[in-house]
Amino acid sequence: MPIEIRQFPCLSDNYAYLVRDSETGAVAAIDTPDAKAINAALDAQGWALTHIFNTHWHPDHTGGNLALKDRWECAIIGPKDEAAKIPGIDAQADEGDLIRLGASTAIVHATPGHTLGHIIYHFTDDGAAFVGDTIFALGCGRLFEGTPEQMWASLSKIAAMPPETKLYCAHEYTEANARFAVTLDAGNSALAQRYQSIIGMRAAGMPTVPSTVADELATNPFLRAGAAEIQTALALKDPDPVAAFAEIRRRKDRF
Ligand code: ZN
Ligand code: FE
Repeated sequence: MPIEIRQFPCLSDNYAYLVRDSETGAVAAIDTPDAKAINAALDAQGWALTHIFNTHWHPDHTGGNLALKDRWECAIIGPKDEAAKIPGIDAQADEGDLIRLGASTAIVHATPGHTLGHIIYHFTDDGAAFVGDTIFALGCGRLFEGTPEQMWASLSKIAAMPPETKLYCAHEYTEANARFAVTLDAGNSALAQRYQSIIGMRAAGMPTVPSTVADELATNPFLRAGAAEIQTALALKDPDPVAAFAEIRRRKDRF
């Protein structure tokens, strides 16, 4: 039986996610930007929180851990390499681990770059990946701790997922990302179309998340670092995708 997903905005630009295993009623919060908002959503659904799956240690992803654990006595799973920084952690997860939520299973991938221990949760049977601050719609996380090589390898794991996989990222940054993307990829008609639809969705107050792996492969400049059009726009002598990725990230940081 499938998972059910509830998505709602939290803090200034985060998304919180609740995932419910339909067969057993087990419910996980993917990260905990705001315990009050997550509790309100649980109460509105009549759901009881059994798990927290953290992607990385940043406070906008773990800030609600202890308050939620206090109320629900839920099990907290977090990245092995950041275990010391995850409040209330009970179990550590790393590359290839299978994490159970009732009768559903997520495979964990290590995606260092934004932070060194960052992990993502891929519910393969449901085609849903919770990617934290690794990839965003038309963007990617800032390299606070890792290297461009690490982040490129992490993004490549996401790029290799089935194209219809839905990507649930942790922030609504899409419109600003789109404004940057068109500066590098002006001839990309799929991007031009997506840009227009994003502007319309945001003007109507609609979320632009989730996107899909196929959407990102076609239009996300960070995933397209190896594409000839992007390399031409960057005017790099070195056709190495990692060098192009690093340059795109530098430009976005200054944009
Ligand atoms: Zn973060
Ligand atoms: Fe974040």
